[in-house]
Amino acid sequence: FSRIWPRITGIQSNLEQIGSVLPSFKNLLNLQKECLEYREINEKMIHDVKPMEINKGLECKNVYFKYNIVEKEYALSNVNLQFPVNRMTAIVGPSGAGKSTLIDLLMGLNQPGRGEVLIDGAPLNNEIVLSFRNSLSYVPQDPFLFNTTIRGNLLLIDQKASEEQIWEALRFAAAEDFVKKLPSGLDTLIGDRGIKLSGGERQRLVLARAILRKPSILILDEATSALDTENESKIQEALERLKGTMTIIVIAHRLSTIRNADQVVVLNQGEVIQQGQFNQLAKEKRGMFSLLLKKQLEVSG
Ligand code: ADP
Ligand code: MG
Repeated sequence: FSRIWPRITGIQSNLEQIGSVLPSFKNLLNLQKECLEYREINEKMIHDVKPMEINKGLECKNVYFKYNIVEKEYALSNVNLQFPVNRMTAIVGPSGAGKSTLIDLLMGLNQPGRGEVLIDGAPLNNEIVLSFRNSLSYVPQDPFLFNTTIRGNLLLIDQKASEEQIWEALRFAAAEDFVKKLPSGLDTLIGDRGIKLSGGERQRLVLARAILRKPSILILDEATSALDTENESKIQEALERLKGTMTIIVIAHRLSTIRNADQVVVLNQGEVIQQGQFNQLAKEKRGMFSLLLKKQLEVSG
């Protein structure tokens, strides 16, 4: 907490009253990963770290990871994966399979016990981790928003963004319509002191913020889970437009959203058990992917 605090207050310095915009103490303690983006911004401001240019992509090489040394079970074992630059990779698998754990390792938040995470063939070590993180945007399932205006929340990432760029990002994230309908538009207060947004609205706002930054890597961890089918398909269309312009790694709850991914990786109990294109995996009748697809069809009727 003592590490995070000065950074948050730093970000807030452009806002009038720290006390009136900060979330509750408990929320701050719960920040964890959600705080990554804010940490990045401040690290960038303090150290002026330039975003890294990535030419080939990311790679997991013989990666093993466990949360606790005494545990027998690995959260990830023998993971070998390539995430080519400007391609879209989807990671699927049952709950507890290790999807979020894999993302944490890719972002350098945890280090593999064995094996390596490579960026353009070089190990993701302390020397490059900051500039690497400055080149990526991460949207978690339960995103964090400050008790300030919509605009304030969007501009935390890119304070120089123009009005036009803000609306473009909102449109992209299928958030334009609901923001326009708010009493004061971009200047509407949200959170404890303002309007309460639904889970889906929060997710779309955070997605807009992630895009506003024009990252070279976009990571979505079940970032559309709170959206209804209509808004989810809007975001799917948006991802479709982004495809090829940035490296996208998406953990999707609903498999329909990843139909056009360049590759689909199926994780189960920490291991990669299938890998390929959507249609190809769907044809492997005995594979887990077919099973997941079938389950989903049953749920959605
Ligand atoms: P997924 O995102 O696919 O649902 P996770 O990567 O969150 O799966 O979890 C993989 C495994 O690691 C699960 O068994 C989970 O209980 C365990 N795990 C996740 N986070 C932690 C943690 N912080 N400490 C200990 N175990 C964890
Ligand atoms: Mg997860």
